[in-house]
Amino acid sequence: MPSYTAGYAKNIISRALVGIVDPDPTDRQINSMWKYFDSACAYCEVRLVRGQRKSHVDHLVSCARGGTNHISNRVLACATCNGDKKRDRDWREFLTEIKGRKSTFKERAKRIKNWQSSCPEPISHGVDVDYLEHQIANAKSAFDVAVANIRQSKTT
Ligand SMILES: [Zn+2]
Repeated sequence: MPSYTAGYAKNIISRALVGIVDPDPTDRQINSMWKYFDSACAYCEVRLVRGQRKSHVDHLVSCARGGTNHISNRVLACATCNGDKKRDRDWREFLTEIKGRKSTFKERAKRIKNWQSSCPEPISHGVDVDYLEHQIANAKSAFDVAVANIRQSKTT
């Protein structure tokens, strides 16, 4: 369980606002991802068990690099590939350095590309990213004001 600090709440505010225009994949889409990748990491092919902490749903292109939450940008990944090794790097470059359990680099790259093309096209929302970020910043500063007011009322 997370502790509900002000910093945690600000992250949730951001994610919820982004989620309005770029929602997370549905449970049904996640189910088909598990099936498609045969319950294995898309990069190194290590076996994954659903619900375990080491099983991740990675962003092929990270959000920091402008990747979306859409299913076509998501693959199954183990905690090692997702966290320690890949981070914000290009997934193709990362894949060349990772050995698969069963398949060559080419086969794994092809599997990921076929996954992407099997997914429905992302709906273009015509989102103005600057506008979205501006709205998120506004919501966060309103939150900051509330936090400051509450803290002040507690001490006086
Ligand atoms: Zn892996």
